[in-house]
Amino acid sequence: MVGTSDNVLIVGAGFAGLGMAIALRKAGMESFLVIEKGDDVGGTWRDNRYPGCACDIPSHLYSFSFDLNPEWSRMYAPQPEIWEYLRRCAKRYGVLGRVRFRTAMQEARWDEDQRLWEVTTRDGERIRARVLISGMGALHVPRWPDLPGHERFRGPAFHSAAWDSGAGLEGRHVAVIGTGASAIQLVPQIAPMAGRLYLYQRTPAWILPRLDFPIADRWKRRFARVPGLMRLFRAWLFWSLEIRVAGFLGNRWMQVQGEKMARRFLEREVADSQLRAALTPNYAFGCKRVLISSDFYQAVQRSNVELVTEPIVEVRERSVVTAGGAERPADVLIYATGFRATELLHGVHLAGRGGIDFHQAWRASRTAFLGITTSGFPNFFMLLGPNTGLGHNSVLLMIEAQIRYVVSCLKRIERRGYCAMELRPESQRRFGDFLRRRLAGTVWQSGGCRSWYQDAETGENPTIWPGSVVAYRRRTRRVEAGDYLWITASN
Ligand code: NAP
Repeated sequence: MVGTSDNVLIVGAGFAGLGMAIALRKAGMESFLVIEKGDDVGGTWRDNRYPGCACDIPSHLYSFSFDLNPEWSRMYAPQPEIWEYLRRCAKRYGVLGRVRFRTAMQEARWDEDQRLWEVTTRDGERIRARVLISGMGALHVPRWPDLPGHERFRGPAFHSAAWDSGAGLEGRHVAVIGTGASAIQLVPQIAPMAGRLYLYQRTPAWILPRLDFPIADRWKRRFARVPGLMRLFRAWLFWSLEIRVAGFLGNRWMQVQGEKMARRFLEREVADSQLRAALTPNYAFGCKRVLISSDFYQAVQRSNVELVTEPIVEVRERSVVTAGGAERPADVLIYATGFRATELLHGVHLAGRGGIDFHQAWRASRTAFLGITTSGFPNFFMLLGPNTGLGHNSVLLMIEAQIRYVVSCLKRIERRGYCAMELRPESQRRFGDFLRRRLAGTVWQSGGCRSWYQDAETGENPTIWPGSVVAYRRRTRRVEAGDYLWITASN
């Protein structure tokens, strides 16, 4: 049991949760605890260990701004290196000892009398804290398609985010379902070892080449000696990605240029016109996440790989059947089918002021102010909450902006002696209207596709920030006192 002296409870020890803990320490707020459902830090970079897993944002930008790493081995560092970086940060900034592992939040209730969050873990432990911060992320609950007969499958079947390294793919018939960001990284790695690999594609993706290369030792030394050089490189990376946002927000010229580049790449890589047609998307460039890979098209053309585009209608003991009746053998079934990205706080019951249920409130409003705070849930903050994902730049920039915002909120509470702060409903409404207006013209909503960015039922987009990182930073720079109710012991 954690006493009420623990002011802040952070849930999750990935980039968001660790970044938050580090920021609290830097701000002199030492009274916090981090709980983590897994047995190590790292979040998505601990979970995703499939062969070829790497970041699709250059590592010099996909790292904390306060801990630039001159040692990145490649432009796009592989998963083990990113995970190691996070573990190092946790140690270096003294937050590792503040993480309680194998502790998953199951329920949280706002106690109005005490003005505290009472959190219950999956093991039934109770933790009380004044402030609750979710660093639970959006891409951690695997999405399993409901394929008829899947439970009858006899061989190893697993999700890309829970890789079964003991499954033994050598010489076997391997079925991979999905052609998203995870699949295009893992297929080129496992295709050479599989006897035969069937890749089940529902929708092709726009793909651009990945300009990946090892970073030479002399550059690592220069980066280490002259941190300014590393900052300059990071700034260059930032702006070269940031300008792309215009295309996503509706600039047709940029969309057409992107599409042209992807088409040229596909034409250069894939000679067979039938296969090329099967790999060509029928929606606007950017509508679904644009993927980067320089080896996926090559892998698909291997003699032991078959791209299957007919929909799966049934899974049998040792095979997969597609529409039209074709049955292909399968010894191993790999679901590269993504995550339940639109289901916020999945599996957690959160009850705010007056017992209101977070999920019900969410269904009614579908917004959180700046993706961080919601009306009815005092002293509750989300990192990487709704509409703060990015399609064009490093999401760590968004996380850091949110962390700064939360620290400003907590400082204000402390300075003025408040017990709590709660978002005004009208601020939430205004922000929701702004988001809907902005999203309407974007390629994500009008590009002619359905993507995991969107809610499956409503088609709304609760995932992506419809703007630049610069604009988001501007909006989160200051906490506008008028957006909140500031609660004292007596009011
Ligand atoms: P994803 O992009 O959602 O891809 C899932 C794939 O599974 C899609 O191709 C989807 O087809 C397919 N699928 C789903 N149900 C299916 C069914 N019943 N039959 C056939 N195909 C089916 O998931 P992901 O590849 O795991 O990536 C998710 C996100 O994680 C990425 O977009 C990215 O943000 C993040 N990620 C990042 C990196 C990185 O390098 N930073 C790497 C991996 C993942 P439809 O398109 O038709 O739905």
